[in-house]
Amino acid sequence: MLQLNKQKSKGRDFLYPKKPSGRLYNYRKWVSFVLLVVLFSFPFLKFNGEQLVLLNFLERKFVFIGLIFTPQDFFLFALAMLIFIVFIVSFTVVFGRLWCGWLCPQTIFMEMVFRKIEYWIEGDANKQKKLDAEPWNRKKIFKKGIKHLIFLIISFAIANTFLAYIIGSDVLIRIMTEPIRLHVSGFASIWLFTFIFYMVFAYVREVVCTVICPYGRLQGVLLDNQSLVVAYDFTRGEPRGKIQRQNEVPQTGDCVDCNLCVQVCPTGIDIRKGTQLECVNCTACIDACNDVMLKIGKPKNLIGFYNQDFITTRKPYKIGLKPYAYAAVLVVVLMVFSSLIYKREVIQTTVLRASGTLYQPKGTNKTSNLYNAELTNKTNKTIKFRFKPQSDEDEIDFIQKADVLPKEGSAHLTFFLIRKNNSIKKYKTDVVFEVISDGKVLSRATTSFFAQPE
Ligand code: SF4
Ligand code: SF4
Repeated sequence: MLQLNKQKSKGRDFLYPKKPSGRLYNYRKWVSFVLLVVLFSFPFLKFNGEQLVLLNFLERKFVFIGLIFTPQDFFLFALAMLIFIVFIVSFTVVFGRLWCGWLCPQTIFMEMVFRKIEYWIEGDANKQKKLDAEPWNRKKIFKKGIKHLIFLIISFAIANTFLAYIIGSDVLIRIMTEPIRLHVSGFASIWLFTFIFYMVFAYVREVVCTVICPYGRLQGVLLDNQSLVVAYDFTRGEPRGKIQRQNEVPQTGDCVDCNLCVQVCPTGIDIRKGTQLECVNCTACIDACNDVMLKIGKPKNLIGFYNQDFITTRKPYKIGLKPYAYAAVLVVVLMVFSSLIYKREVIQTTVLRASGTLYQPKGTNKTSNLYNAELTNKTNKTIKFRFKPQSDEDEIDFIQKADVLPKEGSAHLTFFLIRKNNSIKKYKTDVVFEVISDGKVLSRATTSFFAQPE
C-alpha cells in the first residue's frame, strides 16, 4: 500500500516526513551548522566599533563589516540589493532552487533545528503520526508540552537575533537588562517576533516554501530545460515495479516503487511526477533513493541533479546562453559597485548656493557668492576638519562655521566665497571645496560661482 507522509488535520494535510539520512544530508548538516553560527554571532561581533552586520531600516543605517551606510548612501544599498537579486537569479538558472534547500534560514531552522527536536522527542514519522492520533494522555501531554516549550525558547532566541540585526545588539541588550517600562515597545517586539517564529516553525512550516515565499513562485519563470534540478531519471526508472520476492528484481525500470523518496520529502511531493514548484532541492530524496539502489545492486542517482534535456535526450550537460548573460550583468554591476565603494568618501559634502542671491560686489575689486554647506560624517569617530576652497586665490568668509563633525552626525556651514574680479573670465565658473583632516582631503564638492566678468 502506498505510504503517505501526510495526515489530515483540520483541513490541512499535516506532513510527517521520514527522518532523512545519507551523504548529502550529512553535508547539509555541516553547511547548516556553519550558517547558524554565522547568523547567531554576526550581530554580536564588533569590527571598528560597529557590529559586523546591521540592517536598521527604521533609522536607515546599514553596517557591513565596518562600513557604515547612511541615508545618503541609499543608492549603494539599492545596488547591493540588485546584485543580490541578480546573483540569486543566475544561481537559480544554473542550479535550480538549491538556495532553498541548503542555504535559506527558513529551511535550515525547520529541517535542522525544529524537525530534529521533533524526531528526538516524538520519534520518526510513524511514531509522530501515532502520537497525534492518540487521545490526550499523560505521555502525549508531556511530549507535546516539552516539545513546544523548546520550540518557544528557540523562537525567542531567533527573535532576539533577528532584532539584533534590525535595531542593533547594544539596544537589544539594553532592552533585556533595563526595566521594562523604559522599553515597552522593544519588549513587545521581542515577544511579537517570538510568537511569529513559533507559529512559523510549529504550524505553518513547509507552507512558507510552497505557498508564501515569492522566490518559490518565480521558479517557473527562471528554470529552463538546462537548469540543474533535483529530478527523477524516468527513462531509467520507468516502468516502475515492486520487487515481488526477496532478492528478485522485476524486469522493469530501476524504480522499485518503495515510495521512500516521497516519505522523506519535507514538502510532501512525489518527485517522480516531474519538477514541481514545491521542490526545495533539499536532496533528501536523492539520499533515500541512493540507499535503495545500493540495496538492490543498481547504480546510484536514479534521483539526482539533472537537467531535463539530459533525462529526455541523454545529451551531456552544457551551460546555456542565459546563465552567461546573467553572469555578464552580475560582473558589470559588481564592478560598478566596487568602484563606488572604493571612491566612497567618509564625509559627504553638499554645497548649494543660497537661494535668492546671485552675486555681490565686495569692495571695489572683488565679487562674492553666498553658499550653504552640509557635511555628514559617515564614520563612528568624531572628525576635526578644515573647510576651504581648492584654489588658494579664493577666500572664504564664514557666517556660520564648524570645525568638528560628531560621529555619524552632521554640520552646517554658511559662508561667502570671494574672488578677485581680475581672475573672473566667465559669468559662470566651477568652484571646488575641500574638507581636510590631518592633512588629508576627505571630501570634495563642486558648485557654480557667478560673477560679471570685467
Ligand atoms: S526511492 Fe527510488 S526506488 Fe524508491 S520509489 Fe523513489 S525513485 Fe523509486
Ligand atoms: S522532492 Fe526531493 S529535493 Fe525536492 S523537496 Fe522533496 S525531498 Fe527535497
